[in-house]
Amino acid sequence: MVAEYDGFEPVIGLEVHAQLQTNSKIFCGCRVQYGAEPNSLTCPVCLGLPGALPVLNKKAVEYAMRMILAIGGSVRNESVFARKNYFYPDLPKGYQISQFDKPVGEGGAIEFTLDDHRKSVGLIRIHLEEDAGKSLHPESGEPYTQVDLNRCGTPLIEIVSHPDIRSPREAYAYLVKLKQTLQYLDVCTGDMEKGHLRCDANVSVRPIGSETFGTRTELKNLNSFKHVEKALEYEINRQINLIKSGGAVEQTTLLWNEKSQTAEMMRSKEESHDYRYFPEPDLVTLQVDNDWIARVRADLPELAEARATRFVSQYGIREYDAAVLTDTRSLADYFESVMSEFDDGQAAANWIGTELLAAVKDAGVEIGDYHVKPNHIADLLKRVKSGQISGKIAKDVFAEMVVSGDAPASIIKKKGLEQISDNSVLEPIIERLLDANPDNVAKYRSGKTNVFGFFVGQVMKETRGQANPTMVNELLKKKLDG
Ligand code: ADP
Ligand code: MG
Ligand code: ZN
Repeated sequence: MVAEYDGFEPVIGLEVHAQLQTNSKIFCGCRVQYGAEPNSLTCPVCLGLPGALPVLNKKAVEYAMRMILAIGGSVRNESVFARKNYFYPDLPKGYQISQFDKPVGEGGAIEFTLDDHRKSVGLIRIHLEEDAGKSLHPESGEPYTQVDLNRCGTPLIEIVSHPDIRSPREAYAYLVKLKQTLQYLDVCTGDMEKGHLRCDANVSVRPIGSETFGTRTELKNLNSFKHVEKALEYEINRQINLIKSGGAVEQTTLLWNEKSQTAEMMRSKEESHDYRYFPEPDLVTLQVDNDWIARVRADLPELAEARATRFVSQYGIREYDAAVLTDTRSLADYFESVMSEFDDGQAAANWIGTELLAAVKDAGVEIGDYHVKPNHIADLLKRVKSGQISGKIAKDVFAEMVVSGDAPASIIKKKGLEQISDNSVLEPIIERLLDANPDNVAKYRSGKTNVFGFFVGQVMKETRGQANPTMVNELLKKKLDG
């Protein structure tokens, strides 16, 4: 750290907006759907027409509660919605309904491992709010902007961390863990390209050993986790150079420009009093009783790290594989489906982690939607284990399963791929080979036993890889040594 930043330490706090995957909006019955005909999913409530009254979506509250409880935060029994006033063309109401001093969730932490080091980043708050619409600036540069209000009123949670993060890499790892948690909880798709997850980064620097924080800037327009990491790196170095040359950091909001790899000043930082927050008069206090909290808590799914630990003990697989297999909930589910019909965890982990994941990646789909189903993988693995087919042939069968979607049994039968484990078939082949290669037989018998591999290779070639390797080894040894 000292070497990297010249005696300075970065201090980072992240604000993440996550779109909740409810069917309808937070204060009206309009559908939430990405990519619909512009302005087709609106009503007087989400357009903020005079006299229209918001009604809170219970599911949105429940999703927020899930995330709060999953990360060890506490849900307030009473929380209050507030108007955040500002003008923007894609915010027709002139205010956003958010939460201010009484957010639905407080506390908790995101924990992750980076470079064998356990890190815990505390959370200040998780609050509910509505999204604004979208301004579309034509790429051809025509002098107008279009406004799509479909997104108005989409439920969001804003997750605000304490300034506990100490490097751009930690920020990246934090975001990965946050996204994974949201996805495991089925609360948010985490799709950044669709704007379902958005991140603003606050950053300051201070001399190592200093107890107080420096002045921060806020980075916006970060469209991927990699951009967050790069923008932070840029901004940390800018601040350090500024301070070293006698300047002072000003509290501003910066826009990351991915093309030029620089951050541009957008505006001086607004303070919360600039928004003139006041309690939303059209909504009552949100009351969440302890029974409801207990029910949501009881329904929480097993999260990635707990699941990985269980995979190691229950299926006897390596820690590394357990981490790979629990990366997403659907992958972990797939693995467990295979394991409901197959008993060799490590063999399944090896196959799923390599062959299957590569094929799924090629297909560009979610593993849960992949057409080769877990029962067929279990069937294939059982046939390898029982020796009906070799591991090598299994790869060919799998390639065919990917193309045709057929069951392993019918592919093996159709293509005649069964492993040859019959002495009366293998012996004549081996005898013929020995007769045809007297030189190599002599070499072997004079002690140059490394020609053994040559004979194995020949048998495999003759049988198109279908000979049972253990039997080939045994038979060859018997004939050559005997
Ligand atoms: P605001 O109300 O202006 O958004 P908050 O106090 O809510 O300010 O903090 C917003 C974010 O900025 C939080 O994630 C917090 O961790 C982070 N933050 C606060 N002070 C600093 C600082 N000095 N350096 C880096 N990040 C900071
Ligand atoms: Mg803020
Ligand atoms: Zn609506």
